[in-house]
Amino acid sequence: MELIDNEYDILEDNITRRYPGVSVNEVLLISACKTGNYDIIQWILSFDYRFMFSLMDNLGFFIACENNHVEIAKSIYKRCNVKCTEEIIIMCCEEGNLDILIWLYETFPDVFYSINHDKKYEIFELACNYIEIAVWLSTVYNDIPIYKNNHNLFFESCKYQHLELASLLVSMRNGGYYIQIIDDEIVHYDIISDLVINKKIQTSESYECVICYKTANIVTECCHYYCTECLETHINKNNRNCPYCRAYMCDNKMAKLI
Ligand SMILES: [Zn+2]
Ligand SMILES: [Zn+2]
Repeated sequence: MELIDNEYDILEDNITRRYPGVSVNEVLLISACKTGNYDIIQWILSFDYRFMFSLMDNLGFFIACENNHVEIAKSIYKRCNVKCTEEIIIMCCEEGNLDILIWLYETFPDVFYSINHDKKYEIFELACNYIEIAVWLSTVYNDIPIYKNNHNLFFESCKYQHLELASLLVSMRNGGYYIQIIDDEIVHYDIISDLVINKKIQTSESYECVICYKTANIVTECCHYYCTECLETHINKNNRNCPYCRAYMCDNKMAKLI
């Protein structure tokens, strides 16, 4: 500690001269968040009770997460008024920081649940560079729209022989994708169905398909009715926007009428 004290004096001298207005504690703490020096963090937090990251917002916490220092992120969280943000989750997926992600999810589940469908796809796409994070995300969310961008993720993973990722995507799409593997090589891949609808709604009423006026057997989240044939053709030829109201259509937000 004496050594730290001495260095601290020198640092304080240097910093206050060069950066007036920035406290030495802030600089030291931010730098320790980056290098992962847990002792320094504890030391600063032990005597600087006023230290609340007010000037730096979430910076120290952000940097600790960015560098996958779970213990540091935890200790800052305990003492300071920091919060997890969508930006931090995205960054951790980009950097491959699974340890931090698991802790963030346990601590701030609401932030994870508030992420919208488009963002979920973006996050998952980033995480696909780290198969263990992609697998973990698939357990956190059961509604990642992995078919977005015309099934690009699936096609790319097969094309570049990312066996683990391709297998994960197949398992996430419950019969929608097919891969044939021979000697650890993907020799054939295909889309079996553009629509994988697991939800079912029992109804005694009869609805007309918005496109062909025959009996509908699918209802979308936007409450428009289609027959399977029309909806699959539309998705295949055009896009995943509802032909009637243009709302984006997610598989897991549709239901089969039975
Ligand atoms: Zn129809
Ligand atoms: Zn609609």
